[in-house]
Amino acid sequence: MVDQYEVVVVGGGIVGATVACGLARAGISVALLNKDDPLRTWPLGDCDLRVSALTQASVNIMQALGAWSGIVQRGVSPYRDMRVYDGDSNGFLHFDSAETHFQELGFIVENRVIIAALWDLFEHSDRSALICADPVVSIAAHPLGRQVTLQSGKSIKTQLVIAADGQHSRLRRQMGISVQGWPYHQHGLVTTVSTAKSHQRTAWQRFLEQGPLAFLPLHNGQSSIVWTLGSASAKAYTECPEADFLAALTMASDGLLGEITAVGARASFPLNFQHANSYTAEAFALVGDAAHTMHPLAGQGANAGLLDAAAMIELLAQAKERRRPLGGQQVLRRYERWRKGDNLVMMTTMDLLKRMYGIHDQPFVQLRSLGMNMINNSRLLKQMFNQYAMGLRSGLPTLAAK
Ligand SMILES: Cc1cc2nc3c(=O)[nH]c(=O)nc-3n(C[C@H](O)[C@H](O)[C@H](O)COP(=O)(O)OP(=O)(O)OC[C@H]3O[C@@H](n4cnc5c(N)ncnc54)[C@H](O)[C@@H]3O)c2cc1C
Repeated sequence: MVDQYEVVVVGGGIVGATVACGLARAGISVALLNKDDPLRTWPLGDCDLRVSALTQASVNIMQALGAWSGIVQRGVSPYRDMRVYDGDSNGFLHFDSAETHFQELGFIVENRVIIAALWDLFEHSDRSALICADPVVSIAAHPLGRQVTLQSGKSIKTQLVIAADGQHSRLRRQMGISVQGWPYHQHGLVTTVSTAKSHQRTAWQRFLEQGPLAFLPLHNGQSSIVWTLGSASAKAYTECPEADFLAALTMASDGLLGEITAVGARASFPLNFQHANSYTAEAFALVGDAAHTMHPLAGQGANAGLLDAAAMIELLAQAKERRRPLGGQQVLRRYERWRKGDNLVMMTTMDLLKRMYGIHDQPFVQLRSLGMNMINNSRLLKQMFNQYAMGLRSGLPTLAAK
């Protein structure tokens, strides 16, 4: 049997689920396909390994779609300050929400919380379908636009396929879209820890020899860790006995939050820079990690993907209103022009920061430390950094701008 929807979104992660909710809200019939059926409930007090620091722009998107209340109900951790230390020098940066128009700099949210809230919202939309545990295996041209075939043999016809199937996107490969990039030969080790001192709703980050170590404050008093390490060290620290890990982490943190007293499950993810050479093809578009993957040192990957989602929602809602084809070149070209440049600037900034903190030769370390302390003492420069990091820049999609 062949079903038909105006748009098919492949991949129900943070970005794909956001696009699907936004399109359904705009009265577009949409099928959201995900290869598995993730948990939507979990024991009280339990925290996921994967968290995202959501910017104000991303929160605006979630609020505008009506997903934010479901996220807050499940638990969010606002952070009001961010303290950044250069492990090689006395370089220091302190960002304080009191210096902005907002009560907080952003929110730490478990990825599963965002996904569960979006999926619940999507399921309550009209003319929408959530199809799980049935991965897309092929995508073909069709007079209407595209036809996707699922593992079960089921087929869906649509005007437009939006691929939100992550950095190893199968659909991107099937459409013959190439990528540029390089591996960082680093892994991001993630876990949840308890610390002797309170995190004070502050995001703490220390740049070390192998990469940054971040402590992100969680609502249950614990901190979520993202520790960038060379791949061999990441493997060793992921597998070593708990006591050895606690001791190494306490030492690496330089006692910022006192002794680390307990640690949850550990996992690590390879880090790379990857950018699709094209974001679109005939009746086809890429969003989120399927289009771009960046270093997580400033927690911008999901936020950038959410801006793709908001731009796509805005353009397709306009096309629907004007009775234009949703998979038409006009819409897709505008999407690519809007998002590709902005993503490239963000990815390049993350890459430069990664390289800048990877240099440990003294004259450069002194210069870097001087630069950090100069920014820290300049209200104007800090305001500019804050605005950019909070996602509040010009040219934002309407949903993100509020
Ligand atoms: C260590 C680390 C820390 C990070 N911290 C932050 C942070 O603080 N803030 C931030 O903004 N970003 C952060 N990021 C980046 C962020 O996690 C990603 O950018 C984001 O999760 C990408 O979301 P996505 O929806 O595009 O892709 P994904 O999360 O990869 O989702 C892809 C979805 O597609 C589905 N899928 C795949 N193939 C198929 C198929 N054939 N058929 C159907 N479904 C399919 C998968 O099941 C999955 O649900 C971090 C990344 C790392 C590695």
